[in-house]
Amino acid sequence: MLDVRKIRLTLELRNWGITDPDVLSVIEKIPREIFISKNFRHQAYENIALPIDREQTISQPYIVALMTQSLDLNKKHKVLEIGTGSGYQTSALSFLSRRVYTIERIKSLLVGAENIFKKLKLTNIVTKHGDGNLGWPEQNPFDRIIFTAATEDITEKFFDCLKDKGVIVAPIIRGSKQILKKFIKINNKIEIEKLSDVLFVPNLTGMKD
Ligand code: SAH
Repeated sequence: MLDVRKIRLTLELRNWGITDPDVLSVIEKIPREIFISKNFRHQAYENIALPIDREQTISQPYIVALMTQSLDLNKKHKVLEIGTGSGYQTSALSFLSRRVYTIERIKSLLVGAENIFKKLKLTNIVTKHGDGNLGWPEQNPFDRIIFTAATEDITEKFFDCLKDKGVIVAPIIRGSKQILKKFIKINNKIEIEKLSDVLFVPNLTGMKD
């Protein structure tokens, strides 16, 4: 469906530096309104973060696009996502990779996201209710890892379960700020790039219903 709001959004993302045509086309393809509660649906194609249930947020489309573009995905990649939330970012990953393993600590959010994946017929997403900080050891190694909640640091364990030339994108807490960073593993060394200042909900340990 040709939707003026979607076209306006992708134009804005292009102006903000999202140049990967596959990422832009995925943003255009995914119906963001179905991830959002009725009260906010009219703002679905505005370039802003919006509240979802359980005091969490669906990320700003620009940040989802930036994180997705920074992951340099291809259809051979196995991706780990920590923090499913609404499932919007997960859906973008699903279109551009082979398989996405996504972990959410709040059960009710995960169930909501799973229902949407079914509705959108996204069959390459595997979900888990759990604490993402524990990783998904049975599925190691991964080509790409994305954190969608702000974390103090990326522990050694996550670099160990990343393949060579693998990439991790994560919002990292630095004092009162958060910085989106890209970590690239090359020959067991880690290169770090700063991408943007960001504002994510915090990564918390443990699980909830
Ligand atoms: N990109 C998501 C945004 C999710 S908000 C979207 O587009 O909707 C971040 C999510 O991470 C929240 O749902 C929160 O519950 C979850 N989260 C926080 N810490 C976590 C952890 N340790 N393990 C798994 N999920 C976590």
